[in-house]
Amino acid sequence: MSRDPDCVFCKIVAGEIPSTRVLETDRAIAFMDVNPIVPGHVLLVPRDHHVQLADLPDELAAHLGSLLPRLIRGVVAATEALGSNVVVNGGRVAGQVVDHCHWHVIPRRSDDVIRWPWPQGVYSGDAMAQWAAEIIAAMA
Ligand code: 5GP
Ligand code: ZN
Repeated sequence: MSRDPDCVFCKIVAGEIPSTRVLETDRAIAFMDVNPIVPGHVLLVPRDHHVQLADLPDELAAHLGSLLPRLIRGVVAATEALGSNVVVNGGRVAGQVVDHCHWHVIPRRSDDVIRWPWPQGVYSGDAMAQWAAEIIAAMA
């Protein structure tokens, strides 16, 4: 089990900091966010310490992903929400504060405080195809 002694979520996984858990497996836990965007906001984390989603081994990412549908159904049903957002922040620039990979599961209502969508851009010329080629090359 990999662990960072300074990581707040590693301490939650180890039970050294209290948390209100809603789901546990051998490799993951989900618990209530202590400062929720809206009531019912839940965090899903691997037990092992990995900073970003991009750092997760494929098998562990698949396990965590397999838990999301049940977790979302539970959050939405319990809060009587109309929908949900699932968000993973990667890096400071994207709003990640806790450097232990986590999924936010957030119940949504039409009258809540959350604003969506993001602004949308457009590609000119063949820029989209060029970006796609760059991404494909970077993944090779
Ligand atoms: P991030 O901005 O890194 O994506 O989100 C971190 C989340 O962790 C925040 O929503 C914050 O409220 C939550 N959080 C930070 N510290 C604790 C804690 O000690 N306990 C719980 N339950 N949530 C925490
Ligand atoms: Zn950690």
